[in-house]
Amino acid sequence: MTAIEAIGLSKRYRRSWALRDCTLAVPAGHVVALVGPNGAGKTTLLNLAAGLLRPTAGRITVLGGRPAGSDAARAGLAFVAQDAPLYPHLTVDGMLRVAGGLNATWDGQRATARIANLGIPADRKVRALSGGQRAQLALTIALAKRPELLILDEPMASLDPLARHEFLGALMAAVADDGLSVVFSSHVVSELERIADYLVVLNGGRVQLAGEVDRLLATHAVLTGPGGEMALQVPGLTVVEASGTGAQARLLVRTADARGIAPPGWQADEPSVEEIVLAYLRDPAASALPGPAMLLAGGPVVTS
Ligand code: ATP
Repeated sequence: MTAIEAIGLSKRYRRSWALRDCTLAVPAGHVVALVGPNGAGKTTLLNLAAGLLRPTAGRITVLGGRPAGSDAARAGLAFVAQDAPLYPHLTVDGMLRVAGGLNATWDGQRATARIANLGIPADRKVRALSGGQRAQLALTIALAKRPELLILDEPMASLDPLARHEFLGALMAAVADDGLSVVFSSHVVSELERIADYLVVLNGGRVQLAGEVDRLLATHAVLTGPGGEMALQVPGLTVVEASGTGAQARLLVRTADARGIAPPGWQADEPSVEEIVLAYLRDPAASALPGPAMLLAGGPVVTS
């Protein structure tokens, strides 16, 4: 089953395109990080998936083909928008009651217990909560819906590193307990490895890279070798990014299987997820997109 599937998805605001011809099939059961620079189209894509925006062209479905925005899609999905919109004048308890009244599948006991476990006073006004507590309250409300798919837009943007750590821990515990699919957008590439097992890189409104993190790591390598060999020519191997000094070349390469690929005189190391993401973001022309069928099968990432 797909958590989110987009085919030729495009969105234009007046004269400018926020998303262009995005085709993507993210399998269910993953924690998906949607990364990209400011203005890449992350919020637009998530709003389309949540059914809050309509595509200009193409289509998007969630949870195995339910059209985004349909009753069936809404029933299985919880969405936490950027800056966790909550009613500031309500108490935490009051906020939970309002949210409970709006959701047919509301698990109030779970929400109350979660807030108590976090040590958040139930009688405190939402406006008096810290940023981290507000984020946790928004996550609690989303989880109490018992969604099959949880979509979070920049959930950690206003949190300090400790609060981010706690938020990610809470999210991982919820994933382990409920087995739900999660899609979240983030700028903080360095933390993705801890939580995400599936990655979508968006740049300039286009999907640049998508796949299981394990698969991306198995198909990329950092090669270190003689300086002056920035354009290494090896069949089946694509140089995504070349850097280094005169004495030493450093290449991030993509290949069908990165094991044992070092040519004579070169050393091959596994890159971090952050290195892979940054290399693709630095070169908008670089792209590694398998077709939807390959994405579903977790197949190899190949040059498009
Ligand atoms: P950020 O990381 O800064 O939140 P993002 O990746 O979420 O960015 P979007 O908010 O989806 O990106 O914006 C994508 C593009 O669409 C940007 O160029 C933005 O200026 C434009 N855009 C977004 N919303 C609107 C709108 N309501 N009207 C006009 N243009 C918009």
